[in-house]
Amino acid sequence: MNTNKANDNLDISAPLVHFVGAGPGDPELITVKGKRLLKEADIVIYTGSLVPKPLITGLTATIHNSAGLHLDEVFDIILAGFKNGKKIVRLHTGDPSIYGAINEQIALLRKHDIPFKVIPGVSSATASAAALQTELTLPEVSQTVIFTRRTGRTPVPEKESLDLLASHQATMMIFLSVGMIVDVVKELKMGGYTDETPVAIVEKASWPEERQIRGTLATIAQQVADANITKTAMIAVGEVLADTPPPALSKLYDSTFTHEYRKGVKPQ
Ligand code: SAH
Repeated sequence: MNTNKANDNLDISAPLVHFVGAGPGDPELITVKGKRLLKEADIVIYTGSLVPKPLITGLTATIHNSAGLHLDEVFDIILAGFKNGKKIVRLHTGDPSIYGAINEQIALLRKHDIPFKVIPGVSSATASAAALQTELTLPEVSQTVIFTRRTGRTPVPEKESLDLLASHQATMMIFLSVGMIVDVVKELKMGGYTDETPVAIVEKASWPEERQIRGTLATIAQQVADANITKTAMIAVGEVLADTPPPALSKLYDSTFTHEYRKGVKPQ
């Protein structure tokens, strides 16, 4: 059985270190649990400018911005806090599991037998879908969402290059790549998406200064350049973003479809 070694012999209901998803920007988009843990924390280490300031204002905790710190420095704060019995929150933007760089911190926590928990958050991917008022998984259009990024300073495994992923024609939510939009478009087209494929950009989803652009693969690079969007934006790609009505309705609310909670009626 896979047990969490770090929690052996300890009260797992009260771990001293929590990774918490801060959500995409709107301070009300943190979980109730995340908010409570922040309030109760003695030490909060947050990941820089994308964490909304209201979340770290008015707390009793000592606050550290990790933007200028490297891994060991962050860990030194955690270790010293843990040894002194402090409650520690490591606050990450969006959801910690997506491009959150929590893995190397988790490895160190395990190595030192420090118990921890991860509290999920609203990712900027789902916040962007909400901003666009779009369902990412439409029946007969796409039932799959690919969360990815283009190769940058962090390499992406070759088998996950944008052109290969684009060949699925699934909905794609592309992080960390708006600054390379010209290459993104080129690779998506190499993979088989056509010029007409709908694309949307959401910059700073859920922040007061949120901006959106809708276009197609043929137009989007120029639109991004014109709007001067260079970072903190999601690139959403796929036919689910088309403004024509979807070809099929969800089975869940189809009157002829029987499921666990409702018996379908015979079609007229
Ligand atoms: N863990 C975060 C992602 C961190 S990587 C999450 O789950 O959202 C940083 C990238 O996330 C940015 O380059 C951008 O692509 C995206 N991002 C973060 N916040 C955003 C926001 N409010 N709106 C749109 N994209 C955002």
